Amino acid sequence: MHSVERIGRYRIERPLGTGAFGTVWLAHDDTLDAPVAVKVLADNWSHRLDVRERFLSEARLLRRAGSRRVVQVYDIGELPDGRPYFVMEYADGGTLADLLDDGPLPVAEALRLTALAARGADALHEAGIVHRDIKPSNLLLRTGPDGTRQVLLADLGLAKTLAEASGLTLAAGSAGYRPPEQAEPGAGIDARADVYSLGAVGYHLVTGAVPGAPGKVVRPDRLRPGLDPGVRRALTRALRPDRERRWPDARALAEELERLASGPRPRRRHRVLVLVSGLAVAGVTLALMDRGSASAELRVADATGRVTAEVPVGWGRQLRDSGWDPGTLGLPAGHRPGFVVADDLAKWQDLGADVNGVFVGLVGEGDVTALVNALAHPGCHYDGARDHTLDEWFGRVRTWSDCPGGGSVVEAGLTPPDGGGQPQVYVQIRQDGGPEDVRGVLGSVRVGG
Ligand code: ATP
Ligand code: MG
Repeated sequence: MHSVERIGRYRIERPLGTGAFGTVWLAHDDTLDAPVAVKVLADNWSHRLDVRERFLSEARLLRRAGSRRVVQVYDIGELPDGRPYFVMEYADGGTLADLLDDGPLPVAEALRLTALAARGADALHEAGIVHRDIKPSNLLLRTGPDGTRQVLLADLGLAKTLAEASGLTLAAGSAGYRPPEQAEPGAGIDARADVYSLGAVGYHLVTGAVPGAPGKVVRPDRLRPGLDPGVRRALTRALRPDRERRWPDARALAEELERLASGPRPRRRHRVLVLVSGLAVAGVTLALMDRGSASAELRVADATGRVTAEVPVGWGRQLRDSGWDPGTLGLPAGHRPGFVVADDLAKWQDLGADVNGVFVGLVGEGDVTALVNALAHPGCHYDGARDHTLDEWFGRVRTWSDCPGGGSVVEAGLTPPDGGGQPQVYVQIRQDGGPEDVRGVLGSVRVGG
C-alpha cells in the first residue's frame, strides 16, 4: 500500500501496529488538536459492498455501549481508493500484549487488569453486545487522570464479523482465547464466550503462556508454582469448555478477580477441631503423619490396619483412624474400620471451605452403590456418575464440583468386581479444585483379611 499522509482530516504520524485485517495509525486531529488512532482495513475488504454496512453497524454498536471501558469510535469513512477506515480514541499505554513481551505479570496486577477487562465486557453485555475476540492485543491501556492504568476493549469482534462478511477463512490469532462454542457453527454465542476469553487473558498474564486448547489447559499453578488456589480456581472456572460450568457472567468473574487482587481472604481464626459427626468417626485420634519426602504418595491405614489407601502427600497432614458407623448414612449400623485423612480435618464437613482429603470406610451389610446413588450435594454442580473398573474393585463414582468453597466432592462405592458380596467400601474425596486423580486414590484402596 502506498504511503498516505492524511486520512480525512487526520494527519498520519506513525504506524501503531498491524493486525490480520489492517493497519492502525497514530494520527492527529488538527481541528480538535488531539491524537487519534485510525484503523485502515486491508485491501481485501474494500470491494465488498456489505463491508461498509457491517462497519457502520459495528460503529453503532460501540456507540450503543457508550462505556468509558470500551474504545470510542469518533468517525468512520473511506479512502479515495475505497478502503474503509475508522477513527478511534488513542490509547497511550499500548496493549496487554505489549506488557506480556516482558513475561508474566505480578499476580495482583494480572488480576486487576483482567478484572478491568471483565468490567468492560460486562458493560458491553449490558448493552446486548458480545465481543467475541477478547485477547491481549485487543485490550488497550490508557493512563487515567489519576495516573493509574485503565483497560479499554477494542475491536469488538469487528475483524471477525468482517471476515465472515467477506467470506475469508479466518486465520485469526485468537487460538487459545477462543471458547469451543465459537468454533462450532451455529452453536449460538452468548456472554459466556467472552468469559472464556477473559479467563484466557488472565491465565496468560499470570503464567506468561497462552492456554492450550479448550479442555486441555495446563493448570496455571503448574506454570506459576505457589499460585493462590483461589486464583487457580477462578481462572480454571472461566476456562471450562462447558459454558454452563463457567462463571455465569463477566461481572461475577470481575468481582472474584477484584477480591483476589486485594489480597488473601482473612483466615478464620478459630481452629477448633470438631468431630466428623456426619461421617460418624467413632472416637478420635489425631495424628501428625510422617511424610516421606521422596514419594508423592502416602499410604494411610486405619487403626486396625485393615483398610489402607494411597493419597497425595499434601493431604496427609491430619488423620482420624478410629473407624466409623455406616448407620449414620442409612446403612446397617455397627462400628467398622475406617479413616479420614486431610490437610485440615476441621474443614472436612464444610463444603464452603478449602480442604483436600479422603474418607475411606468399610461397609458391612447393605448396598454401598445404592447409597452412593442416593447422595446429593445441592450446593454444588453435579458432574455426573461414572463406573470405573479398577484392579480390585468395581467403582460407582459420582462427582460434584463448584461447591460453595469452589472445591469438589467425589462419592464412591467400591464393590468386588464379581458384583456384590464383601467387602464393600465407601469413599468420599474432597479437593479444593476440580476432582483429580480420583482413579488413582480409589484404585489404591485395599482391605486386608
Ligand atoms: P488482530 O488483527 O488479530 O485483531 P491486532 O489486535 O494486533 O490483531 P489490530 O486490531 O489491527 O490488530 O491492531 C494492531 C495494533 O495497533 C494493536 O496490536 C495495538 O498495538 C495497536 N492499536 C490498535 N488500536 C489502538 C488504539 N486505539 N490506540 C493505540 N494503539 C492501538
Ligand atoms: Mg485488534
